[in-house]
Amino acid sequence: MLIYFGMAIKILENQHMKRRKFIKTASLTSVGLTLGSTLVNCDEINTKTAVLQNKEAIANLKALPLVVATWHVKEATAKAMEVLQAGGNALDAVEQGCRLEEANEKNQTVGKGGLPDRDGNVTLDACIMDKHGNCGSVVYLQNITHAVSVARKVMEDTPHVMFAGEGAKQFAISKGFQPEDLLTEASKKAWEKWKIEAKYKPIINIENHDTIGMLAIDKNGDIAGACTSSGLAYKIGGRVGDSPIIGSGLFVDNEIGGCVATGLGEEVVKTVGSFLVVELMRQGKTPQQACEEAIGRIVTKPNSNYKNFQVGYIAVNKQGEIGSYSIHQWFSMTKFQDEKNEQIQSDYYNKT
Ligand code: ASP
Repeated sequence: MLIYFGMAIKILENQHMKRRKFIKTASLTSVGLTLGSTLVNCDEINTKTAVLQNKEAIANLKALPLVVATWHVKEATAKAMEVLQAGGNALDAVEQGCRLEEANEKNQTVGKGGLPDRDGNVTLDACIMDKHGNCGSVVYLQNITHAVSVARKVMEDTPHVMFAGEGAKQFAISKGFQPEDLLTEASKKAWEKWKIEAKYKPIINIENHDTIGMLAIDKNGDIAGACTSSGLAYKIGGRVGDSPIIGSGLFVDNEIGGCVATGLGEEVVKTVGSFLVVELMRQGKTPQQACEEAIGRIVTKPNSNYKNFQVGYIAVNKQGEIGSYSIHQWFSMTKFQDEKNEQIQSDYYNKT
C-alpha cells in the first residue's frame, strides 16, 4: 500500500515538474529575448519573479505604452493613452477610455443612448480586470451610464465579482452614481421603428458592432482590460451576453497578455473565448495565432451557423504584440501605439 502511495506521490511530483517546466518555457517565450541567458539557467523559475525582474526591460520596449480597442473608437483610445502618457496605470486608462464612449449618446451600443431590449429598457453589461487578476462585473444594469466604473467599484470595494440588475443599480447609487434615463430620443425612435415589425433575430450585424473591449499596457508593462456594452439590440428582456462574463468578453493575465471579444456573445460564452485566447498565448502562440484558433473553435463546430453571425477578438501579449481576427470581414480595432492612433481592419475567416 505504502509503495503504491509512494509511486503516486512520485507521479504527482513528476507532473508538477513537467507543469513547471511548461510554465517556464511559456513565460520565457512571452518575455522574449529580454530575459537573457542567466534566467534560462535558473533551477527554480518563478514566472512572476521573471516577469517582475524584466519590468524595466519591458518598459523600455518601444511598443509601450499601448492601447487597443474593438471597433473604431479613436477618441476612446486617445483618452486612454492620455492617461497612460500622464503616468497613469493601465486600469485607469481602460476605465477612462470606456467611459468616454459610455457618455457618447451617439454610440448606440454602449452606455447612455444604447439601444434598448424589446421592451424599451436599456440594460448594460460591463466588466474590468486588473494586473493582479482581480475583476468586477455588472450585468443587466439599468439607469446608470458608467457601467464600467460600477464594475470597478464591485472589484475594489466588495469581496465579490459580479452584481446584477436591481442590486447592481442600488450598489451603484450607494457609491454615488446618479440614476438617469438612458433611452435617448434617437434610440427610442430606432426602437419604435423596430417595433413595427418586431422581428426577433438574435444575430449580430456582421459589419456594425460596437461593444467596447479595451486593453492597455502601461509604462510598467502591466496589462488591464475592460469591456462595456448595451448588448444585443432589442434582445429579450433579461438576456445577458459575453461582455460582463470574465473569461468570455474579457480576460487578462498580466504574465501572458489579454483578450477582449465582440460580436454574438452567446458564441463567445460557449467557447469561453477570451480565456481561451490568453491560454493559447500561454502555450506559445502569438496573439494573432491565438485569435485565429479561437475563431476556429467557433466556426468548426458541427452545424455551426457562423455565416449568420459575427465574432471578433483582439489580443495583446506581454511584449506589446497584437492580434485580431473575426469570422467575417469589416471587424476592426483601434490601436494607439508609438504616437499613432489608427483604425486597423482585421483579417477574417470567411473569405468565400
Ligand atoms: N458581445 C455583445 C453581446 O453579445 C454584443 C456586441 O459585441 O456588439 O452582448
